[in-house]
Amino acid sequence: MSLLDRVKQGVVVGDGGYLLELERRGYVDSGADRQKVGTGKGSGQFTPEVAVENPDALRGLHREFLGAGAQVLQALTFFATREKLSRAGYGEQTEAINAAAVRLAREVAGDAALVAGSVSRTQLFEREGPSSAGHVRDLLEEQVQLLRTAGVDFLILETFFHLEEMRIGLECAAATGLPVLATMSFRPTTQRCSDGHSPADCARQMADGGAALVGANCEQEPARMLPILRAMRAAVGARVGIAAQPSAFRTTDATPCFTRLPQFPDDLETIQVSRQDFRALGRQARQEGVHYVGGCCGCNAAYIRSLARGVADRSTAPGGRDARQRLSEC
Ligand SMILES: [Zn+2]
Repeated sequence: MSLLDRVKQGVVVGDGGYLLELERRGYVDSGADRQKVGTGKGSGQFTPEVAVENPDALRGLHREFLGAGAQVLQALTFFATREKLSRAGYGEQTEAINAAAVRLAREVAGDAALVAGSVSRTQLFEREGPSSAGHVRDLLEEQVQLLRTAGVDFLILETFFHLEEMRIGLECAAATGLPVLATMSFRPTTQRCSDGHSPADCARQMADGGAALVGANCEQEPARMLPILRAMRAAVGARVGIAAQPSAFRTTDATPCFTRLPQFPDDLETIQVSRQDFRALGRQARQEGVHYVGGCCGCNAAYIRSLARGVADRSTAPGGRDARQRLSEC
């Protein structure tokens, strides 16, 4: 069954965050000793070479998410463009890492879950500015074609800070013919993305760019992400679905994004939210018009189990607006 068919049946439960969880287990280099976050100095930097170096670790985490109730497994292809992998010393394995990540996810998913290819920002817009657009297009185009060839069911474009880079990603993704779920990440504020667009504007432009579901991921915990999702929902109406993959870290009014908090990356255990926050998100999803819920950084299988329970709680409770109905009305 396709992603859109599943969405029409009810709220889809996604999986959680891979890189931080595998970093905690010792398989991913956080680059904690790098000079400054985002400068590209230092090794590792949360790149996904675990897919070829420790496939059993990745396979095991996929199994945990599936067992917890995930209906989608994301191939661990986040930060797997050739340029980003090259900075970590793995550029020559770009094809192998993307292919292995999809193969592992598919192996675990079997017929029980869809497999999504994860495509993230390249980091070049932050490091080099809009003049990097041509290079970004080449990199994203290469990666989405690798994912299509590897056989993903759909693409998740996630953790983009600049809407301009997201638009490039959407154009590349459209050429694959695969369904696309597109989510922006908001940092350092929740009011605007890095190139100044409101959540509502981001949602409209992602829908215009062909995304079947639009939304937000990472940086905020569920409660702080909710206003972003409401603004997006109001902006796109029933044209497209809404997706949410929040992080599991408590942010503050002054710093509403966990990667800018001093606890990132080595003290994150001290700001972990309760899994009950994800159960609440699951309960709220349908009444808030959210069609796809999963987790991002800090969200392990315990959180996904609670999220799935929350979705089930809500589906058996009376009352509330029905997102499924609202989407199928369009
Ligand atoms: Zn994240």
